[in-house]
Amino acid sequence: MTSIFETSIEFLKGVGPQRATLLQKELKIFTFGDLLQHYPFRYEDRTRFYTVREVNEEMPYVQLKGRITRFETVGSAYKKRLVGHFADDTGSLELVWFQGIPWVMQKIKTGIPYIVFGKPNRYGKSYSIAHPEVEPESEKTEKGGLQPVYPLTEKLRARHVDSKFISRLLQEVLRQGHKNIRETLPDQLLRRFGFPSKKEAMISIHFPENPAVLSAAQHRLKFEELFYLQLRLLKMKLVRYEKFRGQEFKDTAILTQFYNHHLPFPLTEAQKKVIREIYSDMKSGRQMNRLLQGDVGSGKTIVAFICMLLVIGGQAQAALMAPTEILAQQHFNNLRKYADAMRLPIALLTGSTRKAIRKVLHEKLQSGELKILIGTHALLEEEVKFHRLGLAIIDEQHRFGVAQRSKLWQKNAETYPHVLVMTATPIPRTLAMTLYGDLDISVIDEMPKGRKPIKTTHQFDSHRLQVNAFLRSQIDAGRQVYIVYPLIEESEKLDLKHLMDGYESISRAFPDLAISILHGQMKSEAKEFEMTRFLKAETKIMVATTVIEVGVDVPNASVMVIESAERFGLSQLHQLRGRVGRGAEQSYCILLTSYKLSAEARLRMNTMVRTNNGFEIAETDLELRGPGDLMGTQQSGLLDLLIADLGKDGKILQDAREVAGTLLQQDPELSKPENQPIKAHLSALRKTAVNWAKIS
Ligand code: ADP
Ligand code: MG
Repeated sequence: MTSIFETSIEFLKGVGPQRATLLQKELKIFTFGDLLQHYPFRYEDRTRFYTVREVNEEMPYVQLKGRITRFETVGSAYKKRLVGHFADDTGSLELVWFQGIPWVMQKIKTGIPYIVFGKPNRYGKSYSIAHPEVEPESEKTEKGGLQPVYPLTEKLRARHVDSKFISRLLQEVLRQGHKNIRETLPDQLLRRFGFPSKKEAMISIHFPENPAVLSAAQHRLKFEELFYLQLRLLKMKLVRYEKFRGQEFKDTAILTQFYNHHLPFPLTEAQKKVIREIYSDMKSGRQMNRLLQGDVGSGKTIVAFICMLLVIGGQAQAALMAPTEILAQQHFNNLRKYADAMRLPIALLTGSTRKAIRKVLHEKLQSGELKILIGTHALLEEEVKFHRLGLAIIDEQHRFGVAQRSKLWQKNAETYPHVLVMTATPIPRTLAMTLYGDLDISVIDEMPKGRKPIKTTHQFDSHRLQVNAFLRSQIDAGRQVYIVYPLIEESEKLDLKHLMDGYESISRAFPDLAISILHGQMKSEAKEFEMTRFLKAETKIMVATTVIEVGVDVPNASVMVIESAERFGLSQLHQLRGRVGRGAEQSYCILLTSYKLSAEARLRMNTMVRTNNGFEIAETDLELRGPGDLMGTQQSGLLDLLIADLGKDGKILQDAREVAGTLLQQDPELSKPENQPIKAHLSALRKTAVNWAKIS
């Protein structure tokens, strides 16, 4: 059955082949249905009129009634502009045109009442509106009310495809199709939440009669979007629960031996709690899929190792996959200490592992002699075969997608390994529920005792000398220092130059010291060499790009200087700061910025100075940047929501997840008659939406 909403957009009245191509290219609108789901991103309130005296520069737009008293042309040649002096009873302001001046002169008359709409700008004490919409009051065509503003591109605007145009197209789609809009939520939910019907919601989202109706429509559509997303995720989880047998690991002998004789420090209560959660999964007979969250430095590594011991005790193997070579190496170094104490064979496998070593490693892995394998993506290669993989740990750092996660599951022929996903920094709750919505979640919400909170300050570049003096005093006291430069891909060359310049000026400021440098374009042996020198304290200062962001652990390093800190997102700043504060000494983080800062950058700096709590920082970051930017592009597919906003709609998400959970509890297969519409819509979504492809 094809519906009118699958009709190609080309066939909509007013579109035609050329605009259709443009709509497809620029907005991914292919069908009537796609257009219907192209939601406005804001609305302009045309019900409200202001007086000139009320105008201020905070207003995103303003609507006024008054007369143009006179026109004048100012400037010449390309600087020429037309100024219309506009007044009502309360005052006057300027309307300004830079283009299309003859047209304005011809159309707009002085002395008659006009309605003027646009964004006010302030010049000294007076205001102006550039390129306003101007309409004679007598001819006011708009019904008034809330005018939708649609996401558009420059290319579209150049072809006169503006919000009004989109609005007209939608009017046509709705005229032809409104009878065919099917309800996608069950009655009982509509009643429970007081939602409008799908049809009402679709009409109101594009043509809202008043703010109340609009907000009801938005609420319903957001709920619906999140509900189906959660339903899908929870269904994946349920299917795994029911269908995938897990290997049972109950033998705690090796674990107990480690616990009693080799544990380097007492575990925190939070670490113990998380280990219990994982243990109860692993002995349950079901396959574990769990997310382990904890702030930087909360001690996820030892938890990972203890879980490895549980599977090794059950004659199976464990693997840990990290996103970068440096991080894999670091994990290997850390875990090897524990493994050696227990005399358990452990190995590292990365892209740069030599062939001969690889061959031996493959054999030992397949025979089961090798118990623990640490590595990068190289672990996913075909030739890497385990004797019996019991536990796959994935250190995600926001970098692996769900698809890669599932590849590791397939390393065993019969039963999937248990899977533990670790994240480097805390993820806001709403994001965790979405990106990892198909997993169970464990949180380490407590730091090891005796940690001194890192002291963070924000300094302007002009204080560099004082900062250097401070670094000197720390180095004299035996500590080591990181100095980090931003590196973002679009300007890699320029950033590398900044790094090199920085390295030179640091070398001049500390001529007596050996200084390390580390960046992404170095060969891995060179990186390894520099890291090792720094780790052995042969060098006192490490000048680096964000390659050191991930997991690097040098307990003696007590100062983190972040250059151009305004160029980093909050989560990244927090992650960088987490490189210090790992030893017993008081640690410091110094955020260096230029004097001129945007309000948002200032907020980021202040947040960093105020708190060390990674969960709090992550929430703020989400509010500031939105989910896509926060998580990087890889996972943004899942976060490409049409209307819901994970930064703002946490409450709706929570409701949607609860409702989806209850529904699946009562009807796991969605086989009850009243749930048929849900089942049908779910599978329709699966076919059409790009989002879903990425998580299945
Ligand atoms: P992260 O969660 O960031 O991976 P790590 O596992 O690297 O943290 O632990 C950070 C540091 O804290 C390490 O040096 C580790 O040895 C230490 N550590 C972990 N747990 C404890 C604990 N319970 N008590 C004391 N120190 C701990
Ligand atoms: Mg770690």
